[in-house]
Amino acid sequence: MQQAILVVNAGSSSIKFSVFEIMSTLSCDCKLIYHGVLEINPEQSNLTISNFEHAKLVQQNIPSNDYTTLFNTLFEWVLSKVSLVAIGHRVVHGGTYFKCPVKVTPHIIEQMEELIPLAPLHQGHNINPIKIIAKIYPQLPQIACFDTSFHYTQNHLAKLFAIPRALTEQGIIRYGFHGLSYEYIASVITQYIGDIGRKRVIVQHLGNGASMCGIYEQKSVASSMGFTALDGLMMGTRCGTIDPGVIIYLIQEKHYSIDQVVDLLYHQSGLIGVSGGLSNDMRQLLNESNTNPHASEAIELFCYRAACEIGSLSVSLGGCDALVFTAGIGEHNPQIRQKICSYLHFQGVELNNEANSQNKNIISTHQSKITVSIIPTDEEYMIAKHVQQLMANPNINY
Ligand code: ADP
Repeated sequence: MQQAILVVNAGSSSIKFSVFEIMSTLSCDCKLIYHGVLEINPEQSNLTISNFEHAKLVQQNIPSNDYTTLFNTLFEWVLSKVSLVAIGHRVVHGGTYFKCPVKVTPHIIEQMEELIPLAPLHQGHNINPIKIIAKIYPQLPQIACFDTSFHYTQNHLAKLFAIPRALTEQGIIRYGFHGLSYEYIASVITQYIGDIGRKRVIVQHLGNGASMCGIYEQKSVASSMGFTALDGLMMGTRCGTIDPGVIIYLIQEKHYSIDQVVDLLYHQSGLIGVSGGLSNDMRQLLNESNTNPHASEAIELFCYRAACEIGSLSVSLGGCDALVFTAGIGEHNPQIRQKICSYLHFQGVELNNEANSQNKNIISTHQSKITVSIIPTDEEYMIAKHVQQLMANPNINY
């Protein structure tokens, strides 16, 4: 049987997974063979599995939302096809504990659980499958890979908030997120744009969650997300950077409870908030933008804020040689890329409209002072690579 790695990316209502065949242990080479999703609903969950060409192999209803039942069903199928060597998990927050992937132990689980309040939308959901799998398959090594780890290289200033030192010393600093996506882009960028990929690069991860990262010599220099994944860009349902005075006002004058504030900032803001509750899905907003002024304002604000963040990261990098668009919106939408880049003419950005409309890898003109490109991200592959590296060398010091 083929040896393989299972990669798990667990969210609140669904668990995405991928199976990577190990091609070479020596060079830590692996290849996607299956991917799928467990959609979890109160009464009935659904398991879908496809092959690497997206042909559906399994579509099964499971009359349960119990994680043990769901994982037993998933493992039964996976283990009938491959011999699993290890499991890699995406974990959003590594705090100050984890600057690289780690093999999970009960102590590591405790440390990850301490970080749940810092990423309430994700962290608990990321940890649940780890605990269930540790119970049902205790012999299978599990590796946690953190979205914060890539940003460990940022200098001290980039990590600081202007708050009392005592709070900084308690770990209230900027961590940055989407690190597995940025690490993947950094690892492949020279294949797409050549040596310029080692210079001052700003990667825009524009998905439902959105952030940007300034990268130099393939290392993180600064990022738009901070202490939590709320900061920075406007997102699908999150507001991004906001004057903290707004929160104080809502609590003091409008009597918002903490839960209402959390709901407002995480679920009711961003594209869905500005579009007047229409949608957090950029495709729908674009479809309705000609007839609905709230939809078009949401899009305009998204792009304006993105361009402003590019300005900020350009300062952190001391300039910018390349811009990369990635994730759902960044990879697929010419209109949004064009709108963002239209703010950057003063920096010498010139788009090649034809290349942009065709989602080509390089979408800037030859004359453009900044190379603009599209690079599809692959966080799951990055996790599979880390798992292989850690399995091959358990004492690896990143
Ligand atoms: P997540 O952050 O959930 O991983 P994705 O990277 O899959 O998100 O991106 C989801 C977002 O990408 C959604 O807002 C969706 O509307 C948007 N998206 C996907 N394809 C397109 C497209 N062709 N044009 C515009 N937006 C798109």
